[in-house]
Amino acid sequence: MDRHIRNIVIAGGGSAGWMAAAALSNALQKDCSITLIESEEIGTVGVGEATIPPILRFNKTLGIDEAEFVRATQGSFKLGIQFVNWGKLNHSYFHPFGSFGRDFDMAGVYHHWQAAFEAGQAGGLDDYCMAWSAAKRNRFAPPSGDPRHVLSTYDYAYHFDAGLYAAMLRRYAEAKGVKRLEGKIVDVGLNGETGFVETLTLDDGRSIAGELFIDCSGFRGLLIEGALKTGYQDWTHWLPCDRALAVPTTSSADFTPYTRSTAHQAGWQWRIPLQHRTGNGHVYASQYISDEDAAAVLMGHLDGEPLADPRPLRFTTGRRNRFWNRNVVAIGLSSGFMEPLESTSLYLIQSGIAKLLTLFPDRDFDPVLVDEFNRLTRVEFERIRDFIVLHYKLTQRDDSALWRYCAAMDIPDSLRETIEMFRRYGKIVHRELDLFGDPSWLAVHIGQMNFPQRNDPLLAYREADGVAWLAKFRSVIEAAAEGLPGHGEFIARAGMMAAR
Ligand SMILES: Cc1cc2nc3c(=O)[nH]c(=O)nc-3n(C[C@H](O)[C@H](O)[C@H](O)COP(=O)(O)OP(=O)(O)OC[C@H]3O[C@@H](n4cnc5c(N)ncnc54)[C@H](O)[C@@H]3O)c2cc1C
Repeated sequence: MDRHIRNIVIAGGGSAGWMAAAALSNALQKDCSITLIESEEIGTVGVGEATIPPILRFNKTLGIDEAEFVRATQGSFKLGIQFVNWGKLNHSYFHPFGSFGRDFDMAGVYHHWQAAFEAGQAGGLDDYCMAWSAAKRNRFAPPSGDPRHVLSTYDYAYHFDAGLYAAMLRRYAEAKGVKRLEGKIVDVGLNGETGFVETLTLDDGRSIAGELFIDCSGFRGLLIEGALKTGYQDWTHWLPCDRALAVPTTSSADFTPYTRSTAHQAGWQWRIPLQHRTGNGHVYASQYISDEDAAAVLMGHLDGEPLADPRPLRFTTGRRNRFWNRNVVAIGLSSGFMEPLESTSLYLIQSGIAKLLTLFPDRDFDPVLVDEFNRLTRVEFERIRDFIVLHYKLTQRDDSALWRYCAAMDIPDSLRETIEMFRRYGKIVHRELDLFGDPSWLAVHIGQMNFPQRNDPLLAYREADGVAWLAKFRSVIEAAAEGLPGHGEFIARAGMMAAR
């Protein structure tokens, strides 16, 4: 008997819904109908505009042309994130997409840097980062494909208008046969014996049947939680921010090829420059600041004119107990939420879709596939959680209740070991499925002053002159950065500027 899935229903049409629709319609080329249900009345979360480098792979798999994508989404480029006032007030550091220095000796560049820095013979770690060298000058060009060139030592991602991206993916998916239904889902029909979802009922009485359901309904989790009662692990004790206010402003002259995250007393503020506007938002912990005061902080730290009133959003950081339950796979905000400090949510959507395709079921929904999907997703969520908690835990700020709480709070064991290893030996603990590599962990440890207590013993046996190498490398990356076009200039020259 044919056990293939022939009918997939996607509940929700935000970034998650349309990313899933585009990727599934591209991968399942025949004999499968895909229906997406969304409600204009309910709308989408409307944020999610900063990304990380894997998004390039997502677009490439779909065959999306980069110039067309940047134009269609009013996009800009991103070389990393600048963190301001996180470690302490009036201090900043850069988390780059790319490396610090490049390998030149058996002992790591970082260890040479640490020894030179302690001896007063090297500048800050950021001074040896090609991505930051370009970013701080507001310059951008894609990396070189020649691994010998210093311009190959960084990577990039995008900032884009989330609504325009979803619209672009909608055009793509509909052209590949995805059927879109406008309507509000008011009921989820379950099979009395198996508990599997069989139908979704819309407010006009239509009943939509399916075999595999993708829950992209956002924080509501209509299917995964509303119908299947999967349960949720709350991580608020590690990540106390639970609200955000988002406001767009007119563009400022500072068209940075990076996201800025500025820590405030009870949270932090993002700044994401797009071609037609700048996205801003204040993520904050409601137990430490009122909504009115949070709005005042946001509005007091804008560098353009507000284009709308601040829009409130509420969330509970954490994850579903299971991401795939019976014949429902939760993708996007329905699967869990991590604050956007490291722009990881769209990546988790991409990764969820990729895992679903790798472990694609038939109508037996073999628990072996389901359990593996849940295991991989859980580990991935927990690694990202640890990395985000690291930013809070390593603060030296004690000027407000939030930061005092974070500096003293208990943290997951996995993160405690990681922090301890770096503090004692300057070594990074490698863990399975960690989205963030050595340069990322290094950037935050050093950026937030978790300085190691000793140098790498290996250095004592090496003859390489780290001080001279670092000085040379620094002058090479500065010269290379000077040769790059300005960020806006690159976008215009490459024909990526959206029509005004
Ligand atoms: C403050 C904040 C900032 C963020 N910043 C970033 C960032 O910089 N980078 C990043 O990667 N991620 C970011 N994210 C996360 C990102 O916005 C989301 O992961 C992404 O937008 C996906 O959302 P979604 O599609 O799951 O949900 P939504 O956008 O909420 O979409 C849900 C969909 O379900 C539909 N729906 C809901 N209920 C029903 C119903 N009953 N009937 C029919 N349809 C229904 C809605 O109409 C909508 O189409 C941020 C999130 C927040 C809260």
